[in-house]
Amino acid sequence: MERTLSIIKPDAVKKNVVGEIISRFEKNGLRIAAMKKIWMTKEEAKGFYIVHKDRPFYDSLTDFMSEGPIVVMVLEGENAIAKNREIMGATNPANAAPGTIRKDFAENIERNAVHGSDAPETAAFEIGYFFSSLEIL
Ligand code: GDP
Repeated sequence: MERTLSIIKPDAVKKNVVGEIISRFEKNGLRIAAMKKIWMTKEEAKGFYIVHKDRPFYDSLTDFMSEGPIVVMVLEGENAIAKNREIMGATNPANAAPGTIRKDFAENIERNAVHGSDAPETAAFEIGYFFSSLEIL
């Protein structure tokens, strides 16, 4: 069993496709161990994406991630990290495989509908950024 952090980003929340996205995780064998809807401040978004602080898109990305509500989840299952990234599709929707969330719901490389942790270490940091151990069931 593995846990990963998933975010439904502001673009997808605005499009009202939260349920459709969550059902893809469940249909692929991932279970929701924790979930909440929040609205990050710019500072909170900067803290979450601190690994990208030197990238040219850091300011724009953190503006986007704090422009409206998001849904944050802990997903649990076998190989949850890799499985979630497979369900999400490539970062740039132009390169995402058919049937993936980003192919179906993303607008562009930045406004790409979902986030998923990319490794066990980042999953641990990201889950701890939003949830206490008491909130993960
Ligand atoms: P992910 O793991 O697939 O989410 O991709 P990365 O960790 O490389 O990037 C984090 C997030 O930054 C992505 O999901 C996008 O929202 C955004 N992003 C990545 N690359 C670019 C880019 O070249 N330009 C812009 N504007 N945003 C980007």
